[in-house]
Amino acid sequence: MTSEHPDVLYAIDAEDCLVELSSSWQPFAEQNEGGISLNPGSVLGQSLWTFVRGESLQVLYRDVLTTVRRSGRPFEFDYRCDSPALRRHMHMRVEPLPDGIVRFQSRTVRIESRNQPLHVVAASTGHHHLKRCSICNRFGLPDRTWSDVLDAITVGQAMNQDRPLQIIWGICDDCRGNLRTRLEQTAASAE
Ligand SMILES: [Zn+2]
Repeated sequence: MTSEHPDVLYAIDAEDCLVELSSSWQPFAEQNEGGISLNPGSVLGQSLWTFVRGESLQVLYRDVLTTVRRSGRPFEFDYRCDSPALRRHMHMRVEPLPDGIVRFQSRTVRIESRNQPLHVVAASTGHHHLKRCSICNRFGLPDRTWSDVLDAITVGQAMNQDRPLQIIWGICDDCRGNLRTRLEQTAASAE
């Protein structure tokens, strides 16, 4: 944790509603690209699921919550929260507390600049829809592989400037498999 990139802390109650929020919440909300009001007062009391993008990530998060609540053990994982100009390497700790409360602590581990801003690269692929993994931030390519953005250019199609590129957030096979394995280990370790 540094003062420049403070940890983002938030917590949910047993009904998955937000009950606590650090002032550094905004980067998390921006990550979700939700077009929601970002001031904490309007977010407290709302369901966490309002802010988790994509069905596949929701399924994974539900597994994470079930595992930490049942096992009583924290679960930690690395993820990326890239912006067009930056690669942000993040670490998440999900910790169960009494009464079904779960606290999330998101820490910025490392930030790298991109040589070429992402929006330039994304626009030049010509895809109208690109799948993207919420955990590693790689792009899903038409051949069903997942790749960092520089490789995404190589499968570029004819560019159509009338339609902006849309990102469909999901989770790639590698991240899903990795997290599921570790969730099972966490659940088993409590037995
Ligand atoms: Zn991934």
